[in-house]
Amino acid sequence: MTMTKKPETRPAPASWGLAAGAHVPWEYASAPESTDHVQIKPEYGLFIGNEFAPSKPKRTFEVINPATEEVLARVARASAKDVDRAVTVARGAYHNTWSKLPGSERAKYLYRIARIIQERSREFAVVETLNSGKPIKESRDVDVPLAAAHFFYYAGWADKLDYAFPNRQPRSLGVAAQIIPWNFPLMMLAWKIAPALACGNTVVLKPASTTPLTAYLFADVVRQAELPPGVVNIITGPGEIGMELVRHPEVNKVAFTGSTAVGKMIARAVAGSDKKLTLELGGKAANIVFDDAPIDQAIEGIINGIYFNQGEVCCAGSRLFVQESVYEPLLDKLKARLSTLRVGDPLDKNTDVGAINSAGQLAKVQELVESGIEEGAEIFQPDCQLPDRGFFFRPTLFTGVSQSHRIAQEEIFGPVLSVLTFRTPEEAIEKANNTPYGLSAGVWTEKGSRIFKMVAAMRAGVVWANTFNRFDPTSPFGGYKESGYGREGGLHGLAAYVRLDA
Ligand code: NAP
Ligand code: MG
Repeated sequence: MTMTKKPETRPAPASWGLAAGAHVPWEYASAPESTDHVQIKPEYGLFIGNEFAPSKPKRTFEVINPATEEVLARVARASAKDVDRAVTVARGAYHNTWSKLPGSERAKYLYRIARIIQERSREFAVVETLNSGKPIKESRDVDVPLAAAHFFYYAGWADKLDYAFPNRQPRSLGVAAQIIPWNFPLMMLAWKIAPALACGNTVVLKPASTTPLTAYLFADVVRQAELPPGVVNIITGPGEIGMELVRHPEVNKVAFTGSTAVGKMIARAVAGSDKKLTLELGGKAANIVFDDAPIDQAIEGIINGIYFNQGEVCCAGSRLFVQESVYEPLLDKLKARLSTLRVGDPLDKNTDVGAINSAGQLAKVQELVESGIEEGAEIFQPDCQLPDRGFFFRPTLFTGVSQSHRIAQEEIFGPVLSVLTFRTPEEAIEKANNTPYGLSAGVWTEKGSRIFKMVAAMRAGVVWANTFNRFDPTSPFGGYKESGYGREGGLHGLAAYVRLDA
């Protein structure tokens, strides 16, 4: 058999404005995921006591697709009265049914939810992508499987809490108020709801206003799983409604993931009450590459670390520290790899970088990128075409960044990498820890002893070695310093939802 080698390049399209005779790589043919199996309703009411009902008074707001700016649905805008109703229903379900069930019964419901998420995974993945702007390959391969995995994992603990806390008596807390962000809407819901239910609590959850649709799809799963009414309640509305929920006197536990600014407001609001609080806030993670690191593997880790989910990841590796001796070859490879990322339609199975979640977030990314240029850092962006509509931003990296630049200090929450250098491990440690945050870090080196030294020295809740952005329900996740307190995931994640009687 003879094989003819296909040409690796083609003449550049005239519209790209490149020099005459320039060649560019072949394009991928478009490979859009089908949306036929998905039915988004025109309007969603609040989900309270296993029923969807309009808010009182009836008010709604629009939810859009950030990749097209088209309206996907309208959802209810809860009032303070609706919050009260949701908490009252959750309290009733707690007293009358959920807290009375043995753990083995609660486990059955959680297993059922996990299996239904798996069965409906294509539907969840498409709705998540339509609503959040993240690439379908990520919602399909990361968000939805991890959400199911969380329910499976905590289903396993529901009847084993006595073993999780030996010689203590774990007791449920009551009603959990849970507020989640827009970057991993379904996954954050799972991280919050699964341990709460496993420990015998009931919940009222408020998704972010831009991304409520998978939460309402999950409400449908709650009904399908025949969970007793009132165990899971989902309400939508602006931040002030989140604050009503936090302040409600019948709430016993508050769990929040989002910005440090709102986290601080919530901490102040619960101070002096007996509400238990966990906060998972922002980050500005250091990803540290030593000169002995496997360089191609490190390049993939750097790319995954900051361009996964458009960089809208609290633990994103947004500060890259490269040992000076490998700075130039690493940067050449990194720029070349950046240029191969495909930016565009999130529903296309070949897309690597989708849409930024909202116009507001895009403006924030743009403003910080402009500050980087003004403060004297050098910008590099690949020459990719962006769609005409939607909130897209080119994957970006900055070199010549100094520690004092805003792009080295502030969380950008976008596809923007700041590259810095170091000479010795001590210098890397000092620079990496020079941040108000402390959520995650990454270390790349062949040397095992150096991994241990670096991991111990990082003031960060999660440290990855020769990998990045790995999540597993068995592994605790959470912050130091302004990245918050408390842990989600693993055995540690149970502690946030129980009180321990002696
Ligand atoms: P945010 O305001 O902290 O929103 C997170 C959640 O809190 C949303 O459900 C939000 O509701 C709700 N919320 C807003 N104000 C509240 C208040 N006063 N009381 C109670 N709940 C409130 O985050 P954002 O404005 O969407 O994003 C701002 C920045 O935060 C981002 O640029 C990023 O740097 C950071 N962020 C971090 C994470 C993370 O995972 N750590 C996630 C998202 C954002 P609404 O959606 O209705 O406002
Ligand atoms: Mg906000």
